[in-house]
Amino acid sequence: MSDAIQSIRGFSDILPDETPCWHWVESVFRQELIRYGYQEIRLPVVEKTALFKRAIGEVTDIVEKEMYTFDDRNGDSLTLRPEGTAGCLRAALQQGLLHNAQPRLWYAGPMFRHERPQKGRYRQFHQIGAEAFGLPGPDLDAELIALTRRILINGLGIQNLRLEINNLGNSESRGRYRAALIQYLEQHHDTLDAEAQRRLYTNPLRILDSKNPAVQAIIKDAPDLHDYLDEADGAHFAGLQAHLQAAGVEFVINPRLVRGLDYYGGTVFEWISDNLGAQGTVLAGGRYDALVEMIGGKPTPAIGFAAGVERLVALVTDAGHAPATETPHCTLVIGTPDYAVQATGLAESIRSALPWLRLQLVTGGGSMKAQLRRADRSGAQLALILGEAEVANESVTVKSLRAEQGQVTITQQDLIQDLSERFAQPTDERRLRDGV
Ligand code: ATP
Ligand code: MG
Repeated sequence: MSDAIQSIRGFSDILPDETPCWHWVESVFRQELIRYGYQEIRLPVVEKTALFKRAIGEVTDIVEKEMYTFDDRNGDSLTLRPEGTAGCLRAALQQGLLHNAQPRLWYAGPMFRHERPQKGRYRQFHQIGAEAFGLPGPDLDAELIALTRRILINGLGIQNLRLEINNLGNSESRGRYRAALIQYLEQHHDTLDAEAQRRLYTNPLRILDSKNPAVQAIIKDAPDLHDYLDEADGAHFAGLQAHLQAAGVEFVINPRLVRGLDYYGGTVFEWISDNLGAQGTVLAGGRYDALVEMIGGKPTPAIGFAAGVERLVALVTDAGHAPATETPHCTLVIGTPDYAVQATGLAESIRSALPWLRLQLVTGGGSMKAQLRRADRSGAQLALILGEAEVANESVTVKSLRAEQGQVTITQQDLIQDLSERFAQPTDERRLRDGV
């Protein structure tokens, strides 16, 4: 290999044969989010480090060891955003979006975490997320979850997905549970791994989420969070289940489901696939009623989710649902460079007449044979040939590149009609699906 510079580990190029699938996934999210009343917000990729420390929590994996933090030239500590909620909330507060309104916002874009790269886990990855502010009830939680069901199952057609839900309680009931959990885990202190020991007094609920089988075995007999929920928590959780049942959303209750970020309380949920190995969670979310106040606003209930786009793209691609690459419908081939000017004029008039048609100009000289080979490699269905005879009598030769249908020469006037019959204008539905 030469000394050409390579990309950074964990930072991927998304190649042309993958981008149609990305477009499709993004457009399904966008369409459904809009239908449920969410509006898009575009946020900076870099924020002050203090925002993430305060919002995500000092003793989380993200803040302890995953953030890309640096001092800029003024000496201010900045961080590449590791998730979207903190910035979305910061913007909603700063721009006054929370006053006298119950905004519903969504965002999409790259996030950065210094994790160990592996399948489904990257250092730059993409999330699509949504946040709804101002309403405390389980009806909103259920509606948000029904929206994610519509996106993942109805929209993207993903199978073998399971929805897990839990309720982490309010800060008081969670505090009582935390104390009981610490007391239990202290009895097993020596069998815990180093990470669990480190988390024991700072973030013990996170130990429930440990992937280590030895720790898992201890957790099996740990106190049950649900025994510590108070009446209000219980009513909220029962309400959520009733609303989900009414919406026809299937779920399983996982009393050990916690989320990696400090700000969650009350409802939490995850959509998990069995088809992705260890990195099975494709979308996760929950309530964070305390967070707005924590970052300096008036107490405002809130709930949100974030989906991992790489994992979703992998699932729909493996299932064969990814839309085809957008190859040209036809290419325009010229006999000699002398006709380049005519070709440009013809190509532009075709593009004006048929706005959905993908037409590529094969320029750059070479013999007719070489040009046709290039046209073939573009994946186009048809070659439109502009040779000497065609230029002389304002015609064009239409040659099929995919089937043994020979070729016909027609007038340039008839060409538009001919092409519009061969390549039907896509319906709105197909345009959404295939991004054409
Ligand atoms: P995990 O337990 O897999 O580390 P998390 O709890 O850290 O996930 P969240 O912060 O809730 O994840 O992010 C929501 C979603 O974003 C995840 O469910 C996952 O689909 C995706 N995601 C998170 N981290 C990564 C990553 N490093 N690479 C790719 N996708 C990721
Ligand atoms: Mg993580």
